[in-house]
Amino acid sequence: MFLMGLCVLGVLFLVAPQLNAGEPTPGVIDLHVDISYRSLYQGKAFTEGSGQFRAGDLRAGGISGVVLPLYVPLDAEPEGRGEFQLERSYAHVFSSILAAPPYSLPGCGIHRAGGQVRRVETWLAFEGIGSLPTDEATLRNWMVRGLRIFGLIHTHHNRIGTSSGHRAHGRGLSASGRETVERIFSLGGVVDISHSGDETTDSVLSIAEEQGGVVVATHSNARALAPHPRNLTDQQIRRIAATGGVVGVNFHQRFLQPADGRASLKDVVDQILYLKKVGGLSLVAIGSDYEGGIRPAQGLENAGKFPALAEALREAGLGEDALGQVFGQNARRVLCRR
Ligand SMILES: [Zn+2]
Repeated sequence: MFLMGLCVLGVLFLVAPQLNAGEPTPGVIDLHVDISYRSLYQGKAFTEGSGQFRAGDLRAGGISGVVLPLYVPLDAEPEGRGEFQLERSYAHVFSSILAAPPYSLPGCGIHRAGGQVRRVETWLAFEGIGSLPTDEATLRNWMVRGLRIFGLIHTHHNRIGTSSGHRAHGRGLSASGRETVERIFSLGGVVDISHSGDETTDSVLSIAEEQGGVVVATHSNARALAPHPRNLTDQQIRRIAATGGVVGVNFHQRFLQPADGRASLKDVVDQILYLKKVGGLSLVAIGSDYEGGIRPAQGLENAGKFPALAEALREAGLGEDALGQVFGQNARRVLCRR
């Protein structure tokens, strides 16, 4: 009976975000929020961060899920960037979730943590796996622990492949990188090419096409609208869509504008519409990059602003079903596929 009461409470929690003025905001699943990094390495509270992704804003923002990367900075002390640091990030996120309603323990449809019903689903990701042992047993163990998305590379080249963060073009995916990607796909993991250089991205896509793997770009935009190496070419967008993957639109001003300048919510709307045109509606998702050192687009300063984005997309002609797909359902399809 008590358990039933909790379940009813859980339903109320799920409905509560939709009680905003005007049309309800469909549940948002954000594919990339660096709250783990911000709290573990920058000394901010997990529930507050720098103010971009406050736990207190999630209800007003309609957030129903979030992917939490276990990102380790290059200058992590004292051991440097190694497997130990990934374990430490994992332990930090796990204990932070327990102490921070409304976050649920990682996984699809769990909605529980610390003996409570929790509203916001979580999943774990890597952002750079250069220091991760990539034998099958290790990868499988991480997946059992809730790791869903394997981001291969960050801003520097690593043993897996070359990064978009270096102007000099590199060799692309290494031999061991190729083996690792094949292994991740064979285990049912999802490979994230955000931050990868073009040669690496193209090789990953070829493997996915041969093997039937799913490729995503959790926090990248279309290069046609904002020509930055972190963004994607039209061909890459189409190939990601063909694998069944998604692209999470990034809110960082620098990745939204053709030149240094101010990007606004309208530029995010333009990216969403463009990605839909090139890759189809099923491709488009959200990957704000909040708490990752970004300068967010004007009008999208924090996670409480998603209703404004929903309204702008409606005005741009997106229907409610399409909005639901872009805000959360497409991301969930990839995160919860079996
Ligand atoms: Zn990133």
